[in-house]
Amino acid sequence: MLRPDYLILWAVLGLVAPTWGRQAPARGDEPIKPVVLRADRVFDGTSTEAHPGWLVVIRGKEVAAVGPAAEVAVPEGSEVIDLPGTTLVPRLIDAHSHILLHDYSEAAWDDQVLKEPLALRVCRATNHLKLDLAAGFTTLRDLGTEGAGYADVGIKRAVEQGIVPGPRLLVATRAIVATKTYAPSAFAPEWDIPQGAEEADGDALRAVVRDQIGRGADVVKIYADNARGATFSESEIRLVVETARSQGRPVAAHASSAEGMRRSALAGVATIEHGNDGDAAIFRMMKERNVAWCPTLTVFESIARRSGSKAGTDPESARLRKARVAFRAALDSGVTIINGSDVGAFTHGELARELELMVDFGMTPSQSLLAATSVAAEAIGIGDRVGRIKPRFVADLVALEGDPTHDIHAVRKVRLVMKAGAVFRGQ
Ligand SMILES: [Zn+2]
Repeated sequence: MLRPDYLILWAVLGLVAPTWGRQAPARGDEPIKPVVLRADRVFDGTSTEAHPGWLVVIRGKEVAAVGPAAEVAVPEGSEVIDLPGTTLVPRLIDAHSHILLHDYSEAAWDDQVLKEPLALRVCRATNHLKLDLAAGFTTLRDLGTEGAGYADVGIKRAVEQGIVPGPRLLVATRAIVATKTYAPSAFAPEWDIPQGAEEADGDALRAVVRDQIGRGADVVKIYADNARGATFSESEIRLVVETARSQGRPVAAHASSAEGMRRSALAGVATIEHGNDGDAAIFRMMKERNVAWCPTLTVFESIARRSGSKAGTDPESARLRKARVAFRAALDSGVTIINGSDVGAFTHGELARELELMVDFGMTPSQSLLAATSVAAEAIGIGDRVGRIKPRFVADLVALEGDPTHDIHAVRKVRLVMKAGAVFRGQ
């Protein structure tokens, strides 16, 4: 999460929770017959182009073929789904979510962490998953339960077992912070207040990283700074990275300050989250070291809104202005930028906003789609199976009304969501 600046009401957008009708298959995960998707065009995630007149053939959970209609053989007995007026894109990825948090205008972060029972938070999370899936996002990298322990591991399993609908999850469990650098904070110093992440320092980090991985963490999340400045030393971050790496897990570092970003990049994390104090030199260093940036622009916008600023009319908040400058520097540097919004701090289901903001801040619509598909998949370590519409890749696709390579607002107009070959429809 991004530490909340306290909170003024932000109108909750009028989302209606969808109900899901699961089609092929009725039970189990294997669709009974091949499925052919026929849209106006296909953005396959391998280039900035959308290809008119292409077909996609799905067998089971995988893409079997994709290409021009004249060249792709339609298997006997296929179910053909016509999607006129739409563009097929690979499943969208949000690389920075919090399924166990809800909009801070509904309840302050401290209250969510300290007062909401775990079961309540888990029940809410199942609704969040539906909203995020309905928005066309079939993968979330969920970066910390914020006081909800290892609940993300169980929720992930519930999705995998088909007990609740939702995006696939890469989870971080509790996340790691240096002692007394996180929140809830500002209580009387004689009290020990439960924290929203696990505290560890120095050599003790090694055991905590192993413990979190052993309990189910797919990614290790650290907080490399807070509002006062950098927290972990570079050598502490390096210890986290090396311990996680030997277990095959990448590290995501929360860092907004230049120093927190610098230490994280030098220590070899996979991604840096937020980073709105990043400048040309830091983004160049990240590029050289193959560290991706996850800018979470939407949370900066939502913080500005909560403090009364109206998008499009009022001058940008200082934080958003800073993020815009950083985004320009990052684009110029060529650092890898991936789509991640910090949803949970704002309303679930509103994930498309991050792509709109990335375009507003200087990306082309196609670049933002790549940032939310193949580029994100590669940066978070799942690029060999997802993020592209390509034979033998997982059949996760979204049909968007219109052409999102020309008008990014099309990402809000979801006609169909397919996850592992199964079609979900919002009603
Ligand atoms: Zn976050």
